Amino acid sequence: MEQATPRWWISPPGPDESLRSCLARAADLYKADPGELWVQLNADDPLPIGTIDAPSCAALLRLGDALGVPGASLRPNRLPDSPSQLAPHARMAICPACWLDDDAAERPRGYRRSWTHVLRTTCPIHHAPLIIPRDRFKPDLAAALAAQKALTDYDREILNMIESFGTALEASLFRGAPWPATWRSNPPSVRERLCEVSFSLGATRGPPLTANLSPTPALAGFVHGPRHYRELREADGWEGFRQLVDPCERRAALWIVAWHSIPGLDATLSPGWVDMPGLLNI
Ligand SMILES: [Zn+2]
Repeated sequence: MEQATPRWWISPPGPDESLRSCLARAADLYKADPGELWVQLNADDPLPIGTIDAPSCAALLRLGDALGVPGASLRPNRLPDSPSQLAPHARMAICPACWLDDDAAERPRGYRRSWTHVLRTTCPIHHAPLIIPRDRFKPDLAAALAAQKALTDYDREILNMIESFGTALEASLFRGAPWPATWRSNPPSVRERLCEVSFSLGATRGPPLTANLSPTPALAGFVHGPRHYRELREADGWEGFRQLVDPCERRAALWIVAWHSIPGLDATLSPGWVDMPGLLNI
């Protein structure tokens, strides 16, 4: 006999919340592993169930039963995997202001689908840089907002340039939008450059090129490379880039490559000493 679907006593999805985020909330509540909870929910299904972000129709209905909402109402919360999105386990950046909005609305803090783009690192609601909280369970949101407030107009200008470049590159790479006529190179090559500056390539054991950025002190909290060797483990560079959890590192790569791709940028927008002969053949 088929077992009844368990009911998870958590709130239904918040605005733009991913299904993965809902599953994580249920796992936190029941002190369970999210993967096991997902398998358990679908244990009786002999057919492929998909993933939590892109479940089969039957699995989506089951998830609706577990959350106490119609399965069809969860469709907008799905997030099928795509090269334009971060790898599923890398979707950990948050917007502090969105979580304060969740608190004010007395709903659980949820991870939004709009925070999962590889090439975009800004909250579309608050236009603020996404961050990785030091402690996922007790993030210091006030300190995070204070760090955003400390950014100068100049810092914001750089963040805006990084976001605009990432947005244009995403549109060209994944939605067929034309590459701006005055920009150098082409979207696939620019994507390769992003990987090259983010990982330690060649014979050197030093950190990648993104470690050489020179941001202002306030901006350094939002844009920086790793200070250590970063190996590219995946055969495909983009798969490696999609796994860069920290938006600071992806911003660092976008800043360097934007500087080399957009002619005529003001010298004040320079990322500092980041050129290496022969590496950036843009
Ligand atoms: Zn936000």
